[in-house]
Amino acid sequence: APLLLWFRKDLRLADNHALAAAVETGRPVIPVYIREPGHDGSGPLGGAQAWFLHHSLAALDKALKHAGSRLICRSGKAGDALFALIEETGADTIHWNRRYDPAGMQHDSALKTDLKKNGLTVESFAGHLMHEPSKLKTKSGTPYKVYTPFWRALDADYDPPEPVSAPDKIKHPHKWPDSETRTDWALLPTKPDWAAEFSDLWTPGEGGAHKRLERFLDEGLDRYETGRDFPARDVTSGLSPHLALGEISPASIWHATRNLDHDLRDAVVKFRKELAWRDFCYHLLYHFPKLDRDNWNDKFDDFPWETNSKAFKAWTKGATGYPIVDAGMRQLWRHGIMHNRVRMIAASFLIKDLMIDWRRGERWFRDTLVDADPASNAANWQWVAGSGADASPFFRIFNPVLQGEKFDPDGAYIREFVPELKDLEKRYIHKPFEAPADVLKKAGVELGKHYPKPIVDHKQARDTALGAYKKLSG
Ligand code: FAD
Repeated sequence: APLLLWFRKDLRLADNHALAAAVETGRPVIPVYIREPGHDGSGPLGGAQAWFLHHSLAALDKALKHAGSRLICRSGKAGDALFALIEETGADTIHWNRRYDPAGMQHDSALKTDLKKNGLTVESFAGHLMHEPSKLKTKSGTPYKVYTPFWRALDADYDPPEPVSAPDKIKHPHKWPDSETRTDWALLPTKPDWAAEFSDLWTPGEGGAHKRLERFLDEGLDRYETGRDFPARDVTSGLSPHLALGEISPASIWHATRNLDHDLRDAVVKFRKELAWRDFCYHLLYHFPKLDRDNWNDKFDDFPWETNSKAFKAWTKGATGYPIVDAGMRQLWRHGIMHNRVRMIAASFLIKDLMIDWRRGERWFRDTLVDADPASNAANWQWVAGSGADASPFFRIFNPVLQGEKFDPDGAYIREFVPELKDLEKRYIHKPFEAPADVLKKAGVELGKHYPKPIVDHKQARDTALGAYKKLSG
């Protein structure tokens, strides 16, 4: 009988343990992807990631065809779709790679019970993370809440398993079941096409992911340690959207950084530490399933959040009057990504300058990031808010002008994403509101007309936020 291989956030052939085990049985394999809007409890798929997914599924189908197979697409409740396929094909075994978001896990375990009750064999495999979050524990047997000891444990005792290669050939069934047409799923934006620039930047799919990794190892890694905080330098890997949909496994990335030049040792450690943050975020989400909804530190439940929708809208549009925040928010909209340093600045601005609930920012990011990830997004938002497990203290409030001056000293990042300021002198590029009238005039900028005046005064906003926080602590 054939075997169903259910693809989810593991859209790759290499280092795919569920696939490797399926091929090893020597039986025909039917690869399936099920679009389950609203059925798996994991929240709506964001618009930007939907774009990525559309292309990623096309790439997966192509790669499967290359190996003599193909991708069968179905939609609806996963259970219904799987049982229908079992009925149609006579399959008696299902393989999948585990997911680790709480809704997905709950969904899978109920489904597993159901399938087994019906006499089917279900096998699940690891691979989305470098280690199983249930296994890694502190010496006292509790989950990690602090990153540094988590990293130390990983670094000292743990290398993720060696990646397995993609199969050359995947045995196909005598007859393929029907597949839905992916274009009917309407994953791509209609009008306006806000994703117009995405394809200049991203090549969804396993091939694109591995090319990115190679490019990073050749051109980015040696400058990573010193350059990773500078948004205009383009030295980070850009692997996050590929990881989010599992087009490449974290284990293969980890192993690709072994045996490199001795000179790169420090850069490799720094990079691996970042990769370990991803696992750490999942570790937190696994042990605190409400990470994307509830404050880890419930002291924040009483925080007097502002519900100012005008300010929120200005933030989403990149019209706050603080160039580094606006550049980040516009990069997010245009490219589906934002540099990590700028994510921290933009998030801090929303939470602390505008005093808007981090959950609203988290939702906006989920919808606009191609790398939207349930664990990394929630954990990082809580980190910035100060409400998280191993969080940056609330009172550490980023000054958007000083951050801009430090990490984008020439203003190249601003000039790219806030073009109306492109002719502004370097010394005012992060604070156009302080520029003398003649300087603004020379640059062709009228504040309030071409570029907004600041929607809040940072110093004042900072005092207000600190006051609110003090009340909370007191
Ligand atoms: P690199 O610097 O090349 O790092 C390599 C990999 O390490 C990344 O691809 C990523 O998987 C992991 N990584 C790096 N930094 C972090 C981090 N702080 N937390 C978790 N993993 C990390 N990342 C997401 O993948 N999805 C999200 O939804 C997401 N939301 C975020 C929200 C906020 C408010 C902040 C501050 C950060 C968020 N991040 C998120 C983390 C980080 O910004 C991105 O992972 C990183 O910018 C991706 O770029 P890169 O692949 O070039 O990173």
